[in-house]
Amino acid sequence: MKNKNKRYKKPVLNLIYSKQPISRIRIGEITGIRLATITEVTREFLKNGLVKETGKISNRRGVGRKEKLLEMIPEGKYFLGCELMPSCIRALALNLKGEILKLKTVPLSKGEKTSAILSKASSVVSSLIEELKIPGKKIYGLGFVDPGIIDVEKGISVFSAIMPGWKNVPVKKFLEEKLGFNVFLINTSQAKVLAEHSFGRGKGVDNVIFVEYGEGISCGIISEKTLIGGYKEIAGEMGHFNFPGRNEKCKCGSKGCLEAIASLPAIENKTRKYLGAGEESLMKEKDFSPGIAGIVDAFERNDRLAVNVMEETSLLLSFCVANVIKLLNPELVILDRNFSKLGKKFWEIFIGRVNDNLMYGEKAKFRISDMGEEQASLGGAALLLQNFLKKS
Ligand SMILES: [Zn+2]
Repeated sequence: MKNKNKRYKKPVLNLIYSKQPISRIRIGEITGIRLATITEVTREFLKNGLVKETGKISNRRGVGRKEKLLEMIPEGKYFLGCELMPSCIRALALNLKGEILKLKTVPLSKGEKTSAILSKASSVVSSLIEELKIPGKKIYGLGFVDPGIIDVEKGISVFSAIMPGWKNVPVKKFLEEKLGFNVFLINTSQAKVLAEHSFGRGKGVDNVIFVEYGEGISCGIISEKTLIGGYKEIAGEMGHFNFPGRNEKCKCGSKGCLEAIASLPAIENKTRKYLGAGEESLMKEKDFSPGIAGIVDAFERNDRLAVNVMEETSLLLSFCVANVIKLLNPELVILDRNFSKLGKKFWEIFIGRVNDNLMYGEKAKFRISDMGEEQASLGGAALLLQNFLKKS
């Protein structure tokens, strides 16, 4: 390929990926690149096994020249994602068409050693490759999704509040030596927002945030189409916004963090504490349990204790989400599926409070994620797919 045509490769390949099937003429109309150049660039993609002609012909508007359509070859490249959680490791493979081929999960026992966790991560990825019969030269790399603070440049997992002992772990070096291909680190909330932006409810939305909610609380940010990690890749730690005067101990070592007051386990712990202190509640009847479903049920029946707990949860969560919205001005806020566990009554109060808190009568646009357990590892693989499309 002539050197001067190199700079056209990236926009052409990106367009084929996002608009497939698409004709060369249409690529020219969208990008303004000359047809002869597009023909030359796509010839190389065809030769390298990344793109194929579909065999279909488009004759738009029934006039003019008939156009052969181009699409990605699914087996042209593979992207792997692997998520580490305290209870398990999940891995998946994605092809060049953005299709998930297989998701595998292996459990982790409590207190497992760092070296054992790394070996398990490497073997779950290797077995995925073996089972899918992916040729080594077709693998672009692995996105390792870490639950804590990471050093992307050095490829080290620095610290995780939810995984004691997982400290200064040389993840990239270990896995690259074992697996023989590139490994990149990304943290969980960043991976989740990337999955939403690439394949989920945030697809095509340039400014979108994902609020992770469950055991922990965090926020993944995409601003102007760019994943925001910040100076040390720790942007978005919304769960550790803390409230002066509050004493709830947080796993991060601080006190009064949102996560320590309003996460799912925090709601349950607080309710148990009040019940233990002898407060009156419907939850003392034998059909109720102080698990989240029982608390939400009691809240919807206007039980005083449950109302107190859920009111406080909605107040603090809406306050933090509204402030993040004011800071970043997203077009869309995607909420973790765990939000639906908090019930309809909570949802209405929460949305109302966020909107009341915004400026100039603004209304936030919310959607609940429809992604399942694959979300974070999908985001890890999506990071590699994005790198490939950027660098080709
Ligand atoms: Zn904290």
